[in-house]
Amino acid sequence: MTERSVQDVVIPTPASDGAGVKLKRSIATPELDHLDPFFLFDHFGSDRPDDYLAGFPLHPHRGIETVTYMLDGSVAHRDSLGNAGVIGAGDVQWMTAGSGILHEEMPKAGPRRLDGFQIWVNLPAKLKMTRPRYQDVPAGRIPRVTRPGAEVRVIAGEVDGAQGAVREIFAGPTYLDVALSAGGAFEQPVPRGHTGLLYVYQGEVSVGDPARSGPAIPSPRLAILGDGDVVRVRAAAGPARFLLLSAQPLHEPYARYGPFVMNTREEVMETLRELREGTFIRA
Ligand code: FE
Repeated sequence: MTERSVQDVVIPTPASDGAGVKLKRSIATPELDHLDPFFLFDHFGSDRPDDYLAGFPLHPHRGIETVTYMLDGSVAHRDSLGNAGVIGAGDVQWMTAGSGILHEEMPKAGPRRLDGFQIWVNLPAKLKMTRPRYQDVPAGRIPRVTRPGAEVRVIAGEVDGAQGAVREIFAGPTYLDVALSAGGAFEQPVPRGHTGLLYVYQGEVSVGDPARSGPAIPSPRLAILGDGDVVRVRAAAGPARFLLLSAQPLHEPYARYGPFVMNTREEVMETLRELREGTFIRA
């Protein structure tokens, strides 16, 4: 058993996306384009409605999965398949864009602050054009595992026999939201070879062997984990909260353009042509 250690620590970059939503971006930046198969990592959080109310008006996606996890506040969504709903505090929406979807994601004004995450998971070539699919998971259906010093929401993957709410995803992801009490620790097997990352969003944590781990990682930071079989995280000062994510890398060529991630530039050009000609959405 090899314990995973921190390979790199990314300071989120302030960014603006959609019609002007202010957010903190850790993947899909000039410094870190992607971390196979993760092609975007955004943390949106604000007390000021002006930072987010413009939202993400109608836009397309193809070739990826977009995963939205809300901590607080809510986002109304609507799409070209006829789905509509609200992602509220604690809810997850795992959207497989596949061959194509047009949707809007509009954060709603207070009364509470807006806080949440969106990640993009790349799809392999053989599934780029798969049928679009949603897994909408309300907070109440996300298993919670309690251990001494740690409470874990299992969005995807498995903790102590509890299966994550989101299943049958190609990349075999683990997506955990872990709350550590002061002095608490958490250990989780992560399949060897899978890309692993940790996003600290409250407090600070230490990773790995206490004798050898580097300086504590404060929030907000994305820690990129080296390879291994298991990750061990400790609250370094007071309580802490972090996301633990892992997934199987694709090792395939990629071509990203805005909200599309395909394998080749030609596929991106074809996607843009279909959008112009109105054939982007498959029957
Ligand atoms: Fe979107």
